[in-house]
Amino acid sequence: MNMGGEAPTVGWARWGTTRNAKALPDTASTLLARILDLTPPPQAVPLAEAAVPDCELDSAVLDALRRALGAEHVLTTPAARARHASGMSTPDLLRHRQGRVPAPPQAVLCPADHAEVVSILNLCSRSGVAVVPFGGGTSVVGGLTPTAAHHVAVDLSRLDDVVAIDPLSRTATLQAGLRAPRAAELLAEHGFTLGHVPQSFEYATIGGFAATRSSGQASAGYGRFDDMVMALTIATPRGTVRAGRAPASAAGPDLRQLFLGSEGTLGVITDVTVRVRPLPAESHYEGWRFGSFADGLHAVRRLAQDGPRPTVLRLSDEVETAIGATGSGRSDGGCQLIAGYEGADVRPTVDAAAGVLAAHGGVPLGEEPGRQWARHRFDSPYLRDALLDAGAFAETLETAAYWSALPAVHDRVRQAIIDALPDGALVLAHVSHVYETGASLYFTVICSPGPDPLDRWRRAKAAASDAIAAAGATISHHHGVGADHRSWYAAEIGDVAVDLLRAVKQHLDPAGILNPGILVP
Ligand SMILES: Cc1cc2nc3c(=O)[nH]c(=O)nc-3n(C[C@H](O)[C@H](O)[C@H](O)COP(=O)(O)OP(=O)(O)OC[C@H]3O[C@@H](n4cnc5c(N)ncnc54)[C@H](O)[C@@H]3O)c2cc1C
Repeated sequence: MNMGGEAPTVGWARWGTTRNAKALPDTASTLLARILDLTPPPQAVPLAEAAVPDCELDSAVLDALRRALGAEHVLTTPAARARHASGMSTPDLLRHRQGRVPAPPQAVLCPADHAEVVSILNLCSRSGVAVVPFGGGTSVVGGLTPTAAHHVAVDLSRLDDVVAIDPLSRTATLQAGLRAPRAAELLAEHGFTLGHVPQSFEYATIGGFAATRSSGQASAGYGRFDDMVMALTIATPRGTVRAGRAPASAAGPDLRQLFLGSEGTLGVITDVTVRVRPLPAESHYEGWRFGSFADGLHAVRRLAQDGPRPTVLRLSDEVETAIGATGSGRSDGGCQLIAGYEGADVRPTVDAAAGVLAAHGGVPLGEEPGRQWARHRFDSPYLRDALLDAGAFAETLETAAYWSALPAVHDRVRQAIIDALPDGALVLAHVSHVYETGASLYFTVICSPGPDPLDRWRRAKAAASDAIAAAGATISHHHGVGADHRSWYAAEIGDVAVDLLRAVKQHLDPAGILNPGILVP
């Protein structure tokens, strides 16, 4: 268990630190300067100088929390409160760079176990203090910024152990605050892997993955995080719920699904039992080129529907391919596909998939593009820091749709963003999570910040979200709803479902303390 009082969290105002920062390739900087009006940003305000309002929590409540957890596990320093005030979207980072922390938690609570989480919920329910579960703090949809006057953050980083491993059934019960790299290390000691590798891998936690229905880069082979969840333990203001107890069950509705994606609004997940797989003996990554995004989509769909399915499958559109090629000297045009294979003996799958890709117009590029992707698979968030440093604005958004709708969703969302940013924007997209019936689309937007980047992005993001809704796609494939997507989510599920969610929340959380303003419309 992590015994330290000050919980480790992601960087302040940037993903990385200045020590592990990644520079933009010169060619990329030159290209950006040519097409965008880059505005050199003012020096970022250091954490120590951020404007953090004083703690206003009732002293009797603070004392009670200190008695319940131990005083050293109730943090009220401006630094701890500022670090737990939001997630890691670009607007979050920009606010931090300006030293703005509008609504920090009044205190950061670091419980040791499930029982202490229950105590916190009881105490806060009685006192009417809102509670925000905090995993790795990597939310990009405003999932950590509730609409309450006062709230406390419940940092789960001390719940960082493996509870049990069942090697025969290939399951592991992991505490919710375990970060992905530590979970991977602990499972590897037993010869297992989870296979869940989102780009936020370095910081995000097991509980956060469950609470947001995360999906990782290897989802084609290992599935989404929610596919891996066998059981959950959830502390609610009403008591403890244990959902899931067998590999499959016909005993009523699957209550795991109620809590997966509940984003801290129905309870605090304290442990998760996941399906694990043997560590792969082999891995192989390779690149392919297609003449167009449409051709690439056709090939990817055939693999997703008829197999064989690689472990990693990602297809960049023409713009993302061209930008990716900047600096590498390659300028083949078309669209690049990366296929990755992990397992005991990957060669037969590699060969069979190659047959499908070639039959659909794919040109093999060999292993180097695949290796290159694998080497840089966690670079994007660091490059976002570099882009912000260079005076550009960079942010991402994502959705999913059925195969029949996917090309139109791609075009309409892209166009909506371009129209909303008339003085120039680069809009890159890729498919990286595939299903028999459809796939995700992930957009990266790079534009000039303008005088008010937050307002500019709010308008562009709203235009993109409207386009997603109008095209019949979902408002989120894996980032979740948070505060940012709430109104689109309400429209997506409809009035009856909104009332149903509210009723469930009212039952489990009668005082309305759990993450108010997040997810539930
Ligand atoms: C650079 C970057 C890259 C990303 N890449 C991916 C990606 O590839 N795939 C992907 O799926 N997502 C990605 N994300 C989004 C984010 O990492 C995921 O949503 C992740 O699952 C959040 O985990 P976390 O532990 O950081 O949760 P947090 O950000 O701390 O919390 C997220 C939400 O879940 C709630 N929550 C957290 N823990 C619990 C708990 N134990 N019980 C109940 N509620 C809880 C919080 O209250 C909040 O509403 C990325 C984010 C960033 C910044």
